[in-house]
Amino acid sequence: MIEFKDVSKIYHTRQNTINAVDHVSLKIQDSEIFGIVGYSGAGKSTLVRLINNLERPTSGSVYIDDVDMTTLNGKALRTMRQNIGMIFQHFNLLWSRTVRDNIELPLELKGLNKAQRQQKADELIDLVGLKGRETAYPSELSGGQKQRVGIARALANDPKILLCDEATSALDPATTEEVLELLLKINQQLHITMVVITHEMHVVRKICQNMAVMDTGKIVEQGAVLDIFRHP
Ligand code: ADP
Ligand code: ADP
Repeated sequence: MIEFKDVSKIYHTRQNTINAVDHVSLKIQDSEIFGIVGYSGAGKSTLVRLINNLERPTSGSVYIDDVDMTTLNGKALRTMRQNIGMIFQHFNLLWSRTVRDNIELPLELKGLNKAQRQQKADELIDLVGLKGRETAYPSELSGGQKQRVGIARALANDPKILLCDEATSALDPATTEEVLELLLKINQQLHITMVVITHEMHVVRKICQNMAVMDTGKIVEQGAVLDIFRHP
């Protein structure tokens, strides 16, 4: 389980103090797909970056399976982070590396040998439907294919959690549907907990069980997707 306990994140700029995340408490259950929706600037990205400690909270704690992420440093933090994959709106691929080499990158960093890396990459390429494109460069791929590479790379370390930050926002509607189907398949086959940030309600309706609505750092609504979208 992922649990936020009264978490706040305040940014200080020269002009402003910004309560990006403002006293948020939240539980995300194992193996569910949890949606976080809200307008641009609501604090969604900051909230999700608090999960893998890319941001440290100003106050409060973020627990993953009873481990307080905010207390971790060094090796313990790196080990925890290997359990958490992340995908992005603009894919964040390395443009000078092929599909296969992008996917193998986290395995290289982990110190796996070539045979081990190849075997794992083959599995992932199969899973995300990129067979035949292994030697292509990102610039030769469609948006949907680039995100499939991003997903495969995020899964390389067999994470328990996948963080998706506007993962379909740069894609056209048909490609968005395909990528959402892939995320659903991965959730069902691998039982990975997914946290999905989006400004698009239909994304949440399609794949999430539970959701939170954020506005200016606060959670203004939270519950089962079916309840929140049920009209009285
Ligand atoms: P969202 O993902 O919902 O668009 P963000 O979490 O990116 O929202 O941002 C929430 C608020 O925090 C915004 O007002 C944004 O400008 C501000 N913010 C985000 N990151 C920083 C930062 N590193 N320094 C200062 N302000 C930031
Ligand atoms: P996207 O192209 O998916 O919208 P971004 O514009 O955020 O992604 O690009 C991320 C980084 O990759 C930027 O530094 C951009 O210049 C670079 N980049 C994007 N597309 C290509 C490409 N086809 N070839 C080389 N570099 C690229």
